[in-house]
Amino acid sequence: MRKWAEVLVIGGGPAGSTAATLLARQGVDVTLLEKTHFPRYHIGESLLPSLLPVLDLLGARSTIEKHGFVRKMGAFYGWGGQEWPLRFDDPSRPANYSLQVVRSEFDQLLLEHAGDQGVQVCQNTSVQRIGFHDDRAASASWSSGGDHGEIAFDYLIDASGRSGVLARQFGSRRVHDVFRNVAVWGYWRGMYPLAEAPEGAIGVFSHPEQGWFWAIPLHDDTLSVGLVTDKRSFAEGKRTTGSVEALYHHAIPSCELLSEMLRDATLVTDLKVETDYSYVSDIFCGPAYFLAGDAACFLDPLLSTGVHLAMFSGLLAAASIGSTRRGEVLEAAAQRFYDTAYRHAYERLLVLVTAFYRIHDGRDSYFRCAQTLSRRDQSRLRLHESFLNIVTGLEDLHDTNDHTVDAVYDALQRPVEGHHPYGLGGHGTSHMAPLPTSPDRAVEGLYLTTTPQLGLHQLKPCQSGR
Ligand SMILES: Cc1cc2nc3c(=O)[nH]c(=O)nc-3n(C[C@H](O)[C@H](O)[C@H](O)COP(=O)(O)OP(=O)(O)OC[C@H]3O[C@@H](n4cnc5c(N)ncnc54)[C@H](O)[C@@H]3O)c2cc1C
Repeated sequence: MRKWAEVLVIGGGPAGSTAATLLARQGVDVTLLEKTHFPRYHIGESLLPSLLPVLDLLGARSTIEKHGFVRKMGAFYGWGGQEWPLRFDDPSRPANYSLQVVRSEFDQLLLEHAGDQGVQVCQNTSVQRIGFHDDRAASASWSSGGDHGEIAFDYLIDASGRSGVLARQFGSRRVHDVFRNVAVWGYWRGMYPLAEAPEGAIGVFSHPEQGWFWAIPLHDDTLSVGLVTDKRSFAEGKRTTGSVEALYHHAIPSCELLSEMLRDATLVTDLKVETDYSYVSDIFCGPAYFLAGDAACFLDPLLSTGVHLAMFSGLLAAASIGSTRRGEVLEAAAQRFYDTAYRHAYERLLVLVTAFYRIHDGRDSYFRCAQTLSRRDQSRLRLHESFLNIVTGLEDLHDTNDHTVDAVYDALQRPVEGHHPYGLGGHGTSHMAPLPTSPDRAVEGLYLTTTPQLGLHQLKPCQSGR
């Protein structure tokens, strides 16, 4: 193992691979340490169309496209007693499809691509602790089999996912009061597609009492079927039915659309269970370090936003480091940009998820109440500011602070172009955070640029006065 890297990346998931590749493509010396050996299993299979422009920047689009993943042409919702398809082929959308991926294969392709682009990838290597020098992140201790050592760096990107190396070291991770959910899922063979759903669509179906289901078709001819339920309903359901398996199988027949899809299908794997409590770190970056992807924050999977946020933050971190090391922006300014841009993207989606849950069909169910942002959650987040700064398509949000979720909820209830009852698509609609890629979308006086290379541009004085 080397003793020094200009940039050290922890973790080879989508956040780590994205950041490492983008930096290596700028000629930066990057080392990436990954605890496991790929391919490794991972949940998070349904991706948003925002993926495609990032794959283009990585130079990985053709590799990923050629692999044969299912093309996701939209989504189908059975939610709040209503049913509607959402199609991505609307001409106003930046990309008209996305992918449903087997994550072990998708992540491996991205990590191999990082290696091809010059990143030094070390698998089976776990980072234990980050060393600081005068407040500045400076080195990482690692272990690999019986071997261990230390590597120094100029910059660090912690993309270690839910393990969260730095957030745990700092004690900076806070679990929200809301979205303390548990997911149970498995893989089925022999299913029928929904007649009205766009090709390759994810199915999202609310369960009147217990939560909701996902159904994601994969290119190995399996259907990933998950039940997401709050922790209390999960504990109660397990007690009354006798086991997690019984809880899962008991819930499916109460969802007509899903039962229809699975009528001749067989569960071909064991079930997996994960508590997917949503959380956020108080610290997103600091002198010489950035937390990217799930290492910084995690949002309930309802709108399939995890990989989007991971790749988006990987890109923001790479641009911030790229411009700082070239002397184009001050490090402190790049950190403010990163913190604000990533927090806004996260908090904005958090508002959308909570507003979407409010439309849940079990109107008085414990589950629906458990998905309501508490005052404490709301007051600790800059929700209103986040939402107003990057919202598109919901012009009339003049409400203030505590009522942000109400305002979003009201806006979602209005039909858009007569397509569907809630004016909300999730899954890659105009409500996704627009990238701060132009002066009018600048964040903290900076915006992203990809030409002549990835980095940050400063607003000119005449632009900042607008
Ligand atoms: C139930 C559930 C369903 C989901 N569904 C979706 C979905 O449909 N669509 C979607 O977009 N997202 C979904 N997500 C979220 C998605 O899984 C994550 O947001 C995404 O994988 C985050 O990517 P990442 O790169 O930040 O982290 P990860 O993909 O977790 O990668 C982190 C990497 O870091 C490595 N690592 C950890 N610790 C260390 C260490 N100490 N040293 C070195 N390496 C380390 C890990 O081995 C791992 O490979 C879901 C999540 C859950 C829980």
